[in-house]
Amino acid sequence: MRITVLGKSPAWQDADGACSGYLVEEADTCLLVDCGNGVFSKLRRFRDYTCVDAVVISHLHADHILDLIPFASGLTYAPRQQPVPVDRWPGTDSPARPRLHMPAGGREAMRRICGGGGMLEDHVENAFQLTEYDEREELEVGPLRIRFQPVPHFLPTWAIDVRSTDGGGRMTYGADSAPNDDLVAFAAGSDLLLIEATLPRPERSGPRGHLTPAEAGEHGARAGVGRLVVTHISDELDELWARGEAERAFGGPVHVAREGDVFEV
Ligand SMILES: [Zn+2]
Ligand SMILES: [Zn+2]
Repeated sequence: MRITVLGKSPAWQDADGACSGYLVEEADTCLLVDCGNGVFSKLRRFRDYTCVDAVVISHLHADHILDLIPFASGLTYAPRQQPVPVDRWPGTDSPARPRLHMPAGGREAMRRICGGGGMLEDHVENAFQLTEYDEREELEVGPLRIRFQPVPHFLPTWAIDVRSTDGGGRMTYGADSAPNDDLVAFAAGSDLLLIEATLPRPERSGPRGHLTPAEAGEHGARAGVGRLVVTHISDELDELWARGEAERAFGGPVHVAREGDVFEV
């Protein structure tokens, strides 16, 4: 299984960056995990977007969903998706319509965003096969099996575990979350934990919703994961500092995600 970091920025993009989006590939199967602002353009550097089999969304914050809109526009308006020849494209009777797995309320959220922006309300659901997942179900996308775990954040949020039934590799994505034991249990023994490390220090007031690099490292250590990759971290924070903090807590090497990074598990 191959994981490519398309975007790793927190809610505001790095210079020339993108928000959350990770491509997971196993043989010919292609899964996109989260689709934040900037991700569609990065996706196009690595993969033909009409070959994406499914998109799965961790939560409905803008930095994890906004590029579903340009992705839907491509699926709707691109010349090669049309039934008749356009330019060099021959026309198709079976335009790509990837599966889109969203948390409860995802359909309504996209209707409000699209309708409020002057587009058809059903722009996204027309372009994708949109379903809202039940956290207790396991999804199948080709040889990939996908499980969910609720994690504490500012709105309902699910960590996502992807394992391959072909090569046997497994990766766990923590989404955005406050410190929590559920994520540790969910990620236990995973080959790779992709975990957020948004904060330079814990939130000073109000509920917790994110992790520091040290907390991310501690979660990885407790889960006993093979590799730890910290992400959702701004280019306005010192990468070496973040890595040092995470490594001290993890007790081993940690990778700070960069766009275009590729990990094999
Ligand atoms: Zn986020
Ligand atoms: Zn969030």
